[in-house]
Amino acid sequence: MRGGAPLIVAIDGPAGVGKSTVSRRLARRLGVPYLDTGAMYRALGLRVLRRGIDPADRAAVEAATAEAAVSLRPAAEGRYEVLLDGEPVEAWIRTPEVSEATSTISAHPAVRRRMVALQQAAARELGGVLEGRDIGTRVFPETPHKFFLTARTDVRAGRRFAELTAAGADLAYEQVLDDLERRDHRDSNREDSPLTHDASYTVVDTSDLTIDEVVERMAEAIARISAP
Ligand code: C5P
Repeated sequence: MRGGAPLIVAIDGPAGVGKSTVSRRLARRLGVPYLDTGAMYRALGLRVLRRGIDPADRAAVEAATAEAAVSLRPAAEGRYEVLLDGEPVEAWIRTPEVSEATSTISAHPAVRRRMVALQQAAARELGGVLEGRDIGTRVFPETPHKFFLTARTDVRAGRRFAELTAAGADLAYEQVLDDLERRDHRDSNREDSPLTHDASYTVVDTSDLTIDEVVERMAEAIARISAP
């Protein structure tokens, strides 16, 4: 912590790179809340799907999400739980359909503006480990603690496939790989806040590291920067 300002750790990177697991553990270790910003966009993606709206229809999506109440409720172990119109939606937001719709709706600028403001408000007081696509570029560009996690595409698809099949989904590895590549391409090429990083980030390739090793490296980098 610096000069009493809350500790903000920004973690960005593509899908399946291990951001959620690493962020949760790092937040626990640092004693600050953990905020999965992807879950917020996913809640809106779910709403759009439930209403039968085409995710690419910018005006319809912006209208549907403008009136949606996305809120954060402190949950177990310093985690925030995402509520959509007061309903806990975690159980519904991890399907391939929601992933796909979310990546499309999150390219719309009005959607992003609302989510960014919520994320900034949530972390300003207590700090936090925030993970997403634009945390270090847009949400908290001023934090000195920025990490970009990467991993080989086959490793990322393999992890996502294992997660989905463990949750009971019945799909082929090739489909998971295709979905992941399409989503990463869209997230990296949109006009508003694309997934990217610059020299202010510490890049960690997680392909051949254990979760503990990744967390250890990050904690060391944070301690080094925070040291007076
Ligand atoms: O991280 P996760 O895979 O749950 O994110 C789902 C989608 O939400 C991403 O593919 C991306 O399109 C969008 N997202 C975003 N900005 C963030 C977090 C997620 O655009 N900060």
